[in-house]
Amino acid sequence: MVKSKIQNLKSKILIVGAGPAGASLAIRLARENFRVCLIERERFPRPKLCGEFISPECLEHFRELDVLDEMLSAGGERIAETVFYAPDGKSIGVPIRWFNGDSRGALSLSRAEMDFQLLEKAKRVGVEVLEDHSAVILLQEDNEIRGLKLRTKDGEVKEIFADLFVDATGRARILGNLISRKGAKAQSSKIQNPKSKIQNRLVGFKAHLRNVNLERGVCEIYFFRGGYGGLSYVENNLANFCFLIKADAVKNFSSDAQQIIQQLIFQNKRACETLKNAEPVHDWLAVSVDGFGQKDLNPVANLFAVGDAGAFIDPFTGSGMLMAMESAEILARAIVVNPAADKIAEQYKIEHARRFQRRLFICSLMRRAAFVPVLSKILISALSIGDFPRKMLARATRPAVSVSKIHQSRKNL
Ligand SMILES: Cc1cc2nc3c(=O)[nH]c(=O)nc-3n(C[C@H](O)[C@H](O)[C@H](O)COP(=O)(O)OP(=O)(O)OC[C@H]3O[C@@H](n4cnc5c(N)ncnc54)[C@H](O)[C@@H]3O)c2cc1C
Repeated sequence: MVKSKIQNLKSKILIVGAGPAGASLAIRLARENFRVCLIERERFPRPKLCGEFISPECLEHFRELDVLDEMLSAGGERIAETVFYAPDGKSIGVPIRWFNGDSRGALSLSRAEMDFQLLEKAKRVGVEVLEDHSAVILLQEDNEIRGLKLRTKDGEVKEIFADLFVDATGRARILGNLISRKGAKAQSSKIQNPKSKIQNRLVGFKAHLRNVNLERGVCEIYFFRGGYGGLSYVENNLANFCFLIKADAVKNFSSDAQQIIQQLIFQNKRACETLKNAEPVHDWLAVSVDGFGQKDLNPVANLFAVGDAGAFIDPFTGSGMLMAMESAEILARAIVVNPAADKIAEQYKIEHARRFQRRLFICSLMRRAAFVPVLSKILISALSIGDFPRKMLARATRPAVSVSKIHQSRKNL
């Protein structure tokens, strides 16, 4: 394999954010003998707001990253089917094998555990990992970044320098947002007007619950006025309940998750059955969610965005973590084979569009139905006519070719 100049110059790659995108990218690059430093604001294991549905294609990434055994033996739940419930209780099921033809199913595992396993693997393959360090300032010169200022949990400030930088900070896109506008290229992503941004703002909530009345091996999705939520077992006989709701509706319930569940989500008959005796085992986590879709992948010459920082797909597809690891995989390949940052950018953008454009578009259409009960009811009725429409829709939100087939046809990276 042709090695890039970036490596030949013994240069350093600095990745900020150790979620699935940053950690998997770090593992792939370290295994190719790059000098990689991974910066993470938190100390792992840490809880993370997420549906914790690990789609079956992710297992192929875990196998490649050599963490599959750790993930499968961590006590999570294998999921064979996702069932979507309209508010009136009408449902449609989507067998997980429709996603990629693999009958072993998806995995439901806490992000605390999944992200911890990936980070431990990164350490084992030689990545320099700095936890409890936040990237706070970019040291920028013209259209390039030279370094970062980091702040530790104790308030200490450090400077760190590198040749190539990766923003893997998730939806917050911390590095992208720190770029001084003077030196930056024009943003290629669509600029939303501020009013529509506020109207579209959503809030995500999540907690692990005991005493849910849920069948094993199933992930259930409930639609309700202004949002939807997903429930599935994770480790230790607990279930993860994660819901996304319009910010306006949250205000009406003083941001109290229990009130939202009882007064709004329980209007969905099935949610009321499964959750009526449930109790959270820790405080609810909440985050604001806005700005779905494609973002700028290469805001300045030597900065690349990966995972949610590069494109954010709707959570109900359960494929955000897959996109995070897939985008990391294609960026790693572009870095390994290309001699300079502009070539890396060219290859990364082309491959990113080829893999994700169609998925992002279809999900943006489905999002409209997800937040309007009448539409979700019509959609669920229409899709319950037979297997074919559901299969088509399930496939449309996934990779065009199953990950395992892609891997058979090219060298492991
Ligand atoms: C409500 C909701 C439910 C979801 N459910 C699912 C699901 O069931 N299945 C699924 O596949 N996807 C789901 N997703 C999407 C999924 O969570 C993301 O796609 C995935 O986490 C993206 O991974 P990432 O590595 O890009 O970013 P993240 O996982 O967000 O990781 C970013 C990391 O960067 C760190 N960081 C941030 N700022 C700094 C800084 N300044 N300095 C250093 N470190 C920093 C953070 O601490 C974090 O660890 C859901 C999303 C939401 C909002």
